[in-house]
Amino acid sequence: MSIESIEQELASSGIEVISNPALVEKLSLDYYHFSPILKEQLENKKADLVVKPKNEAQVLQVAKLCVKHKIPLTIRGSGTGNYGQCIPLEGGIVLDTTNLNKIISLESGLARVEAGIKMIALDREAQKIGWELRMVPSTYHSATLGGFIGGGSVGAGSITYGLIKDPGNVLALRLISMEDEPKVLELRGQDINKVMHAYGTNGIITELEVALAPAYAWLEVIVVFTDFMQAAKFGQAISDADGIVKKLVTILGDPIASDYFHALEPYLAKGCSCALLIIAPTAIEATKEIVKEYQGQISYRKSEPAKLLEFTWNHTTLLARSIDPGITYLQAFYYDLEKVEHLYRKFQPEVMMHLEFIRLNGRAIPTGIPLVRYSTAERLNQIIEYHQAHGASIANPHTYIIEEGGTIEPEQLILKQKLDPYGLLNPGKMRAWSQKV
Ligand SMILES: Cc1cc2nc3c(=O)[nH]c(=O)nc-3n(C[C@H](O)[C@H](O)[C@H](O)COP(=O)(O)OP(=O)(O)OC[C@H]3O[C@@H](n4cnc5c(N)ncnc54)[C@H](O)[C@@H]3O)c2cc1C
Repeated sequence: MSIESIEQELASSGIEVISNPALVEKLSLDYYHFSPILKEQLENKKADLVVKPKNEAQVLQVAKLCVKHKIPLTIRGSGTGNYGQCIPLEGGIVLDTTNLNKIISLESGLARVEAGIKMIALDREAQKIGWELRMVPSTYHSATLGGFIGGGSVGAGSITYGLIKDPGNVLALRLISMEDEPKVLELRGQDINKVMHAYGTNGIITELEVALAPAYAWLEVIVVFTDFMQAAKFGQAISDADGIVKKLVTILGDPIASDYFHALEPYLAKGCSCALLIIAPTAIEATKEIVKEYQGQISYRKSEPAKLLEFTWNHTTLLARSIDPGITYLQAFYYDLEKVEHLYRKFQPEVMMHLEFIRLNGRAIPTGIPLVRYSTAERLNQIIEYHQAHGASIANPHTYIIEEGGTIEPEQLILKQKLDPYGLLNPGKMRAWSQKV
C-alpha cells in the first residue's frame, strides 16, 4: 500500500496527519547530535508520516492500521531524548503523543494523566493543590511524562525519590498493543518495569498514574569553591543530611560553570567549581553551616523556581556544546567520592567533572554527566573502559540500542513478544528482539 493511501486512510478517520517533508524530518529527530557517534549513524533517518492522535480511540486506529499493513511505528513525546530513542530507523509512522495531554484525575499525592502531557503542565496544576512531580528531567519545560517514562530515568528530585523506575514512583501504565486486534491493558506494581525505559518498543502508553511529592516554595542556591574535591565533598555532605529537604545537588568542576554558563557570570569566579542547589527555604540555616565547613561561599540565593534547573543534568552539556560543539558527554554512576577523585585526577582537563547526587537504594551517591573533549571514537571508548575497570558504571549515551546504554529485563522481551509480535514498535532499538528474529 502506498504512503499516500495510508495518509488518506488516516485522514479519513479524522486523525491529524503531517506529511510536509520538512516537518516530518523535524519530528523524526531528537537530541542524538549530542553524540558525534550517533550523529553519523542517525542524521538521515526519518519517518514517512507523522500522526497526532487526540484520544485513545485514535491511537487504537493507528495501531490497527500499522499492524494491518506491517508499517513500523515509533512513538514520540517531545523528542528531547538524547540517544535517538524516538528516531525511526526503518521509516514508517511516528506517533506524536502531544495531543494526548489531559489530566484525568489529580488528588492528594496522586495524578492520573494522558501520556503526552508536558511535565510542566502537570506540575503547575498539582502545585495548586500543594503537590508536584517527584522528579523531573532538566527538559521539564518541554518533555512529556510518557517520554520520561519511555526514555528518561532521573532528574531534579532524584536526590530524594531515586530513579523514576523505583517502586512507588509510577503506579500504573495503560498500554495499547500491536497485535492483529490491538488491545488496551493496564499494568500495575512490578509489571510496570516491563515498559519503563523500553523506548516504546513493547507498547504504546496512553495513560499513567504517578505518585506526587509535597510542593515547596523552593530556594535556589549557588555555592562556589576554589577546589573541585571540596565541592564534591560538600555535595556528599548535603546529600547525606537527612533533615535538609532538597531537590537538587549538582556539583560542577572547574571550568564548566565559569566557561559555559554566561548567564550566571555575576555569581561565579573564573575557574571556580560550584554547587547548584534547590532546597526548602527552612533548610538554609543548616545548609550555610555545611557550606562553612567545606569552605564554600554562597554567591546566589533566590526563590525563583526552575531557574537553576536548566544549568544542570544534561542542560550542562547543552550549554557547553553551544559554546564548544566539540564537547560530548558520558553518563556515569561513581557510587563514592574515591572513584570521583581518581577519575577526576586521571582525566582532567580532557574530562570535566559534572556530578549529580541521587538516592540509590537508600544511599546518596554521586552520579554524573561529565563533559568530554571529544577526539576520536576509540579514545571515547578507552575512557569508558577505564571508568568501568575502576568501578564506575557507564550508561553509554553513544548508542541507540537499549541494552548497550543500560539493561533490559527478560520480561521486557517477553512482553514485546506478546504485545508486538510483528516487531513493528521502534524497530532496531531492542537487541534482544533483533537477535531473536
Ligand atoms: C538538554 C537535555 C537535558 C536532559 N536532561 C535529562 C534529565 O535530567 N534526566 C533524564 O532522565 N533525561 C534527560 N534528558 C533526556 C530527555 O529530555 C528526557 O528523558 C525526557 O523526559 C524525554 O521526554 P520526551 O517527551 O522528549 O520523550 P521522547 O524523546 O519523545 O521519547 C523518549 C522515548 O520514550 C518513548 N516514548 C515516548 N512516549 C511514549 C509513550 N507514550 N509510550 C511508550 N513510549 C514512549 C519514545 O519512543 C522514545 O524512545 C535530557 C535531554 C536533553 C536534550
